[in-house]
Amino acid sequence: MNNIGASSYPAANDRLLGGAPPDGQAVIYLRVSSTRQVERDHDQEGISIPAQRTACQRKAEQLGLTIVDEYVEPGRSALEMSKRAAFQRMLARIRDTDDIAHVIVYKLSRLARNRIDDAIVMTDLRRQSVTLISATESVDDTPVGQLMHGILATFNEYQSRESGADIAYKMGQKARNGGTIGRARLGYLNHIDRNDGRDIRTIVVDPERGPLVRLGFELVAADNLTLNQLSEQLYQRGLRTRPTTRNPAQRVSISKLARMLRDRYYLGYVTYRDEEFPGRHEPLVDPHLFDGVQAVLDARTTSGERRRVHHHYLKGILYCGRCHQAGNSGRLIIQHTVTRRRDAYTYFFCRNRQQGTCPAPYANVSVAEHAVERYYVTVSQQRITDALARLTAADTAGWTRDPVQVYRGCTDDQRQLLNHALFRQLYLADDRITNHELWPTTP
Ligand SMILES: [Zn+2]
Repeated sequence: MNNIGASSYPAANDRLLGGAPPDGQAVIYLRVSSTRQVERDHDQEGISIPAQRTACQRKAEQLGLTIVDEYVEPGRSALEMSKRAAFQRMLARIRDTDDIAHVIVYKLSRLARNRIDDAIVMTDLRRQSVTLISATESVDDTPVGQLMHGILATFNEYQSRESGADIAYKMGQKARNGGTIGRARLGYLNHIDRNDGRDIRTIVVDPERGPLVRLGFELVAADNLTLNQLSEQLYQRGLRTRPTTRNPAQRVSISKLARMLRDRYYLGYVTYRDEEFPGRHEPLVDPHLFDGVQAVLDARTTSGERRRVHHHYLKGILYCGRCHQAGNSGRLIIQHTVTRRRDAYTYFFCRNRQQGTCPAPYANVSVAEHAVERYYVTVSQQRITDALARLTAADTAGWTRDPVQVYRGCTDDQRQLLNHALFRQLYLADDRITNHELWPTTP
């Protein structure tokens, strides 16, 4: 298959008519396609110049060819063949000296990265009766090998056959290298860097939407906003979708926000076919914030959204001291959350705060715990003895331990029971208990 009618092709005829170059002389053409690839030796496409050279030299030895020159394209070489200085010098030399029969490349992809370039390169080389040899791709069996023998028909067939598999390969390769496939996510922008005539496609943080996306994560983690509330909040702060030709800029939908809050892309990962790779884009959220959001979302039921209820032994007994002084009733709600400073954080806050009628600050759970503990000073020994007796049915007569010590010695479950046995309500204002309400005494 590799010697199909060579003489029937123009290149071969030209060679016969115009005098063939000495058959044993070759040049090698070396190229890495970007500085990034030069730096990344794990990237197959970016294999280093010395490694390419060694492979080409080995190939020349195998074929009994003599390398008379080499052309090295600089790291940031242009994509367009006409702008590749070394390639153009090589062509000129082949044309002018007429002493070169072969060009050896490490891989065909080093020479051309798309069909049009391939065609141009092949036309240029064929015009000079030059054979293209790949150091790493088999000459005999593969479509690539047939291509190298300058059979144009096979070349086209090879191209169309390869391109399908090639697209999937390239997308996978792009993901493995941390590249973003397709349109940028909300909060990012597709960006094209024009650099020495090369278009470098990157993903940059959207200066307008990026901070709002980040804020969205923070609002869910810290304030446990529902998706409805979040959508409204972000809308009020100016977040809109990026307009397309079909859709104008609009409010970000709840379903889109739901997907966004679960999307590990914002953590800096790219996913391709269920595989995850570290992305080259800048993360918008850090792992702790992301985990916090996931915990909040996980705690919500699938149908509705509910605030996460956190178990604590003080739950249900604490009331707002400020509201109590103002003559209102304000139950303290306990909440567990993760702040943007990465602290897991449990606190109490007044229910009236949500309605905006109470300015009491959030109280850290440890502040509340200590306040209650200290408050046991006010509990008489008799009362605690009675409470314990009711709780345990134990004979505590004559027990004279300090109530604070008793409370401290309890487990969380025991403390909960004891608190509920003693108090109906405890009023917390800032960092101390200011008052209490007892159960009505049973006659
Ligand atoms: Zn209050």
